[in-house]
Amino acid sequence: MVEAGINSVVGNTPRWIMPRGRTAVLKDLARQRSLILYREAVEAVRRGEKDLARRYVELGLSILRRADAKKPMEYRRGICPNCKLPLIPGLTARVRIRRNRKEVIITKTCLICGYVVRIPCRRKRK
Ligand SMILES: [Zn+2]
Repeated sequence: MVEAGINSVVGNTPRWIMPRGRTAVLKDLARQRSLILYREAVEAVRRGEKDLARRYVELGLSILRRADAKKPMEYRRGICPNCKLPLIPGLTARVRIRRNRKEVIITKTCLICGYVVRIPCRRKRK
């Protein structure tokens, strides 16, 4: 596993998005580590180790919670809220798109527990 230390934040991040202050650095560290854990969870699901994947995701969530950091998109959209497994289209999730006149609705069904996530997106006006 890659270790994301404080030096990697300061060293690799361009100055204009470099987090300022101790809290910001801690939140960025939490974000980076949670993303590493998310990648590991996806790999674990691909190998078929679901319990391990769930453990990775729970660890990532607890890191984010402890740092009081905002959840990255991977955690907001790429995780089953019910069984905490990464939603991988074609493997652990079925993704369907429905549309009507007003909006486009993306439906993600977790194939493990059957939980359905609905993401409504408003259509762009022309
Ligand atoms: Zn699920």
